[in-house]
Amino acid sequence: MKIIDQSLLQLLETWRNELVQANTDQQLEALRITYLGRNGRINELMAQLKTMPLEEKRAFGPQIQELQQIITQELQALQQTFITQAFNQELNKQKDFDVTAHVPSALDKPSGSLHPYTHLIERIEDIFTSMGFAYAKGPEVETEWYNFEALNIPADHPARDMQDTFWLTTPGLLLRTHTSSVQIHTMKNQQPPLAVFTPGRVFRHEATDATHDFMFMQCEGLLIDKNISLTHLCSLLKVFMRGLFEKNDLSIRLRPSYFPFVEPGLEVDISCIFCKTGCALCKKTQWIEMGGSGLVHPATLKACGIDPAVYSGCAWGIGIERLAMLLYGINDIRLFHSGKIEFLKQF
Ligand SMILES: [Zn+2]
Repeated sequence: MKIIDQSLLQLLETWRNELVQANTDQQLEALRITYLGRNGRINELMAQLKTMPLEEKRAFGPQIQELQQIITQELQALQQTFITQAFNQELNKQKDFDVTAHVPSALDKPSGSLHPYTHLIERIEDIFTSMGFAYAKGPEVETEWYNFEALNIPADHPARDMQDTFWLTTPGLLLRTHTSSVQIHTMKNQQPPLAVFTPGRVFRHEATDATHDFMFMQCEGLLIDKNISLTHLCSLLKVFMRGLFEKNDLSIRLRPSYFPFVEPGLEVDISCIFCKTGCALCKKTQWIEMGGSGLVHPATLKACGIDPAVYSGCAWGIGIERLAMLLYGINDIRLFHSGKIEFLKQF
């Protein structure tokens, strides 16, 4: 079928004039919409067709279809040309790409870094898992029972004063003051033998200064089995601290102390990692305080449904901030959640 209608031939000529002027994909798309779109020229003609007498319809209809086909083909051909051109341009760019070229702006691009918490928790996790301990977690909002009573700290116990607590408006609920509450969850949910570690955030209602914050991180280790004694605790502490500070000749010193949920309770010191004869960081003593430890109190075992006549356990805990401050030489605990980019960029 050939187009013989003058108005259609005229339209075809206009189309071709406009087509040669299209230089971009956007211009091409605009042309497509003008001619082939829902309200485009071709559909306009189709609509006119409906009102024509049958004879004219027969003559005119196929010519419109022919015109539509020509326009579609020419449009697609030019689209293809554009694609080929773009591809070749990209190819040429790659050919001329100089891998040795210096790009100064790349150096200014911001890049992220891990928080010191993340570094240390990963390190601690590695040591604990290498000793066969499993990761345990518990809620940050706790009941009084999990945070205090099960840990041998009843309501009238003076030890509650040692831990200023954020109480929630719901009676009996609080923000946990230590990760020892996770030990209770674990002992209640699992039967011994069990070995877990519990890194997590804890909260204290305290005035803040360079060494105190209202929120900080703790990590505790707990081992429950038959015949667990101080010997196990000593050797576990030694392996743990030596791994943590990557120092095979590190010594451990235990001093009697008091924590309601252990008996005996022991303060853990490590030999100074910075000196051999006394320095400012160990206050000339050659020892650095690292945390608390002890044998799990029978009352705590009993509260969790574990028979203290059959099982015993040991536990120890450290503060992640204290560790980070020691290892990285940080002098203000509040920097950890200050959100200061300059501080975080160093790690
Ligand atoms: Zn020292």
